Amino acid sequence: MKAVRIHEFGGPEVLMYEDVTDPRPRPDQVLVRVKACSLNHLDVWVRKGLPGVKLPHILGSDVAGEVAEVGEYVGTFKTGQRVLVAPMHFCGHCEKCLAGVQNQCREFTVLGNAVDGGNCDLIAVPLANVIAIPDALDFNQAASVPLVFVTAWHMLVGLAGLRMGQTVLVLGASSGVGIAAIQIAKTRGCQILGVASASKHDFLRAQGCQHPIDSAGDYAAQARAVVGDKGVDLILDAVGGRSWTQGYDLLGPCGRLVAFGLSSASAGNTRNLLHALRQLMSVKKWNPMKLMDDNKTISGTNVGHLFSRPDLVAPQLASLMDMYGKGDLHPHVDRAFPFTEAAAAHQYIHDRKSRGKVLLVP
Ligand SMILES: [Zn+2]
Repeated sequence: MKAVRIHEFGGPEVLMYEDVTDPRPRPDQVLVRVKACSLNHLDVWVRKGLPGVKLPHILGSDVAGEVAEVGEYVGTFKTGQRVLVAPMHFCGHCEKCLAGVQNQCREFTVLGNAVDGGNCDLIAVPLANVIAIPDALDFNQAASVPLVFVTAWHMLVGLAGLRMGQTVLVLGASSGVGIAAIQIAKTRGCQILGVASASKHDFLRAQGCQHPIDSAGDYAAQARAVVGDKGVDLILDAVGGRSWTQGYDLLGPCGRLVAFGLSSASAGNTRNLLHALRQLMSVKKWNPMKLMDDNKTISGTNVGHLFSRPDLVAPQLASLMDMYGKGDLHPHVDRAFPFTEAAAAHQYIHDRKSRGKVLLVP
């Protein structure tokens, strides 16, 4: 088969499209013919060099495809069935998995990060990681769901306890997670402020964001003009650096800031430690006394580490699939690049040109 593989860490030029031996399913595995694989910022971080990634490595975590073959112990899926492969990879057969404590799985890995991912034609995965795709979703839409929607759901509902009618501000609103957050907040009748470049504002409005804010200007001042002294109930911020400090000040009483990335530290196509360090130095330090006095909460999530909790993630993914089936959510696919143009796709999301999800397809 063909795969997008890296033999060294670096810029988009290290992505090789090359021949790789076909995987074979173990008795408890499902062999999936890949139809679409979403491209996440996580893939960019892996390409630049994440600890724990063994080379050579096939990237890609969110996979949608068709069952090509099932292992001899697998009775629940049939050849040709449309399936989604969850990014978290628990084995399903160790004593922990069999006891139902999958978060302690002996063979736990994260697809596209700790083990080879889905930027290829065929992938063999444990049965426990395979979910049927509802009829309402095509392959591209299904592949856009896992990382971004689970991240958004976990932050809004899990960490921040989002309630009906609250005010939510999303930085990086046109990203995959941003769009997912807007759609989820919309189902709860929230007032939504979304920060993105002006050219993406019509798109944000179409997704349900009532107050697009221009990322070129001072976002906090523009947000203040909308919410006044009441402040914002909840901020999702993947920009980081100075932006977290501004966001904290913008929070109203009992407001919550959720940090889920530090894109301000990612300047070039390779790791620039000096730039990253400067951004980190600009992050204000809070102590619990200050948080207590202000009645504010700061929390964070790391997509990669979140997926080491399949006990949390699997039910969330199942609820999200259900919401899709009912038409409450609409995954937005921006663009699908063929595997042969993987480098261009990486550059595209690095340059933040995307509106919604970017996919890689065979
Ligand atoms: Zn296991």
